Amino acid sequence: MTNTTWFSVSGEAELPCPSCGELLRDYLPSADHHPTTCRSCKDSLVVLSLSGNRGIAVSLTKSPVEVQRFFLWSHSTLDELEFVTLLVSLEDMLA
Ligand SMILES: [Zn+2]
Repeated sequence: MTNTTWFSVSGEAELPCPSCGELLRDYLPSADHHPTTCRSCKDSLVVLSLSGNRGIAVSLTKSPVEVQRFFLWSHSTLDELEFVTLLVSLEDMLA
């Protein structure tokens, strides 16, 4: 598990909120790049499923401004299928 102050990566069943550590049990699976809110600390998050039954949670209030701008750009530019294609392509390149 990777947990910083602005993102966390883990198995879908153990994915913690990067801000408060509360487990995000029923947020996944998800390919929605629109923000959601942590029920515990109310931080604005993007929660996404990754390959290998993993998940990632990104804080939209604590992440670098470039990351925030990326998600804002993706909201306004890409539909859900296009965003999933981008996510899978990034995973393929980083594998
Ligand atoms: Zn939280």
